[in-house]
Amino acid sequence: MNVIASISDLRERLNADRRSGKSIGFVPTMGALHAGHARLIEECRRHSDVVVVSVFVNPLQFNRKDDLDKYPRTLEGDVRLCTSLAADIVFAPTASAMYPGDQLTFVDVPALTETLCGAFRPGHFRGVATVVAKLLNVVQPDAAYFGEKDAQQLAVIRRMVRDLNMPVTIVPVPTVREADGLALSSRNRLLTESERRAAPVLYKALKTAQSLVAEGHHSAAAIRQLVLPILDPARVEYFEIVDPETMRPVETIAGKVLIAGAIWLGATRLIDNVTAAPLPGQG
Ligand code: AMP
Repeated sequence: MNVIASISDLRERLNADRRSGKSIGFVPTMGALHAGHARLIEECRRHSDVVVVSVFVNPLQFNRKDDLDKYPRTLEGDVRLCTSLAADIVFAPTASAMYPGDQLTFVDVPALTETLCGAFRPGHFRGVATVVAKLLNVVQPDAAYFGEKDAQQLAVIRRMVRDLNMPVTIVPVPTVREADGLALSSRNRLLTESERRAAPVLYKALKTAQSLVAEGHHSAAAIRQLVLPILDPARVEYFEIVDPETMRPVETIAGKVLIAGAIWLGATRLIDNVTAAPLPGQG
């Protein structure tokens, strides 16, 4: 396992791998790796000759400086986990290596980023799409692996790859959860004990909404009204039922939908989502 910080060193190494006909799989992360990231790396390992994991806390996607400052950074542990999962390369560039001067070029997917997280984190998805485009250009993988936990991010990346004709396959990976349903997240380690105890409420609300859809409830407004009391209203940033392609809220549920929520527990923001569809005969 090699830890590489320099873009040119990484390119040199991967060019050699490509010349010898090896396929390259890529897992972009912001580090503080957990079992959710591990699932992505395992999936990548199964399908690629060379597994590259990037660990880069991307300043461009943080709309709040305090959030960027307190984001957990655990490179040593991350490298150990990647070694245990038989990854080949951890790419851990500095912010100045990724953004040497003023970045004047950005990737925007406005139509998919006006709702959900995009509505509350101005500039976030522009930062995500831009850094993922840069990382894909540096690594030039055959396939890149992304978690369904960040459903809007996954939609943005898929659209960017399609619209910009990027030669990479985007592979979605299901959300990994704790036993009580809480989606694993690097931010979970910022929760106090009592916040951690409260955290599964978001998944509980999502599952309740999912059951209501399956039982044949058609009205998104009615479902929201039934489910929102499960969540402390003071904590809810958003709780929406959207079209899984456009990320736009739906009024009437006729097919597959994405149910997505964001809540605040103290100073920590958690997001999660599930998909839902009416049972056959109930749509
Ligand atoms: P992050 O380090 O939070 O930027 O996440 C890096 C990648 O891991 C993204 O594609 C995330 O969607 C994915 N990921 C994060 N948490 C989970 C999880 N609990 N299950 C599956 N994938 C995840």
